[in-house]
Amino acid sequence: MECPKCKGELEAKHHADKITVDRCRNCYGILVEEHMLAEMLAEWMSDTILDTGPASLGKKYDKIDDIDCPVCHIKMDKVVDPVQTHIWMESCPSCFRIFLDAGEFSDLKYETFSDKFKNLLKGKRT
Ligand SMILES: [Zn+2]
Ligand SMILES: [Zn+2]
Repeated sequence: MECPKCKGELEAKHHADKITVDRCRNCYGILVEEHMLAEMLAEWMSDTILDTGPASLGKKYDKIDDIDCPVCHIKMDKVVDPVQTHIWMESCPSCFRIFLDAGEFSDLKYETFSDKFKNLLKGKRT
């Protein structure tokens, strides 16, 4: 399968029996089914094993957000994590696969101090 962001090659990666993702060899973006993402968030070490690309590379490719689902060939929606609102992902309205740039999964998995701090500020304002 071709990476929707950089046209690199997506290759299947497996972890802990039940987890399968497609990761790009070039930009390290991860294409994952929505239900699988929940499994990944619950699985210990899944981020270190699956999200191996440098976050700097992810930031570069995060700017490319008009992409088509490589499985369904239709435009993916832009979705934002409701808790960590700086994390933008692409989601397919047909197969519900999600595309995460390098570093985004690790970011999703571990709320950083700055995220918590931002939430705190938001809470005070409203
Ligand atoms: Zn790629
Ligand atoms: Zn799709």
